Amino acid sequence: MRKNVIAGNWKMYKTQMEASEFLQGFMPQLEDTLPDRDIILCVPYTDLFAMSQNLHGSSIRLGAQNVHWEAFGAYTGEISAPMLTEMGVRYVIVGHSERRQYFGETDETVNMRLKASQNAGLTPILCVGETKQQRDMNETESIICDQLKGGLANIDQTNLIIAYEPIWAIGTGDTCAAKEANQVIGLIRSQLKNADVSIQYGGSVKPDNVDEIMAQPEIDGALVGGASLQPDSFARIVNYQK
Ligand code: 13P
Repeated sequence: MRKNVIAGNWKMYKTQMEASEFLQGFMPQLEDTLPDRDIILCVPYTDLFAMSQNLHGSSIRLGAQNVHWEAFGAYTGEISAPMLTEMGVRYVIVGHSERRQYFGETDETVNMRLKASQNAGLTPILCVGETKQQRDMNETESIICDQLKGGLANIDQTNLIIAYEPIWAIGTGDTCAAKEANQVIGLIRSQLKNADVSIQYGGSVKPDNVDEIMAQPEIDGALVGGASLQPDSFARIVNYQK
């Protein structure tokens, strides 16, 4: 059974103090019974400790935004999967387009990070997506298939979430039409060995488009950037109506 998963990706926003303020505004707005969906907050490393304490006993799960592929070692500035799990982290975003674009992430390093995450008991959220130029040249399908093939080589597909994030729709307000996102996500599903993998859409998801996105048959969730930073807008998104 595919589970619906709404995740916020805070990117490099919110100090620890701001994170606590967010929770004070957000938690009371969560509807009591949302058994059909998981809610995740992927926050900066520096917020993890306070968040894990503040979320204790709540149904909201904690995620990180990246992870190194080694469990420990001389890798100045890096964070490993066992460090995250010990802090109560259960999910981690891997291969976000911003990491591919600005930090040299490749399908090969994505693959290593996925493996390390699963070995430590984390559920990785693998991000794939095409640029505007690639879309204009009708390369969406081949780009996505290459990213999946490289990223998922020898990866167990039972403990995995995938996010389709068209790069041209990230932070632009320019959402991919729900039907088009549904179609690409169907393509992604056809490339997987496990039919139960949840696949999210990400890219300018907002309170006013989340219901339409979540109504698509292939789409199991959303990975939300900007609109996850405000308690009111993220609450409206996680309380989406199907
Ligand atoms: P926006 O929701 O701000 O477009 O960001 C999407 C994203 O990159 C989530 O990982």
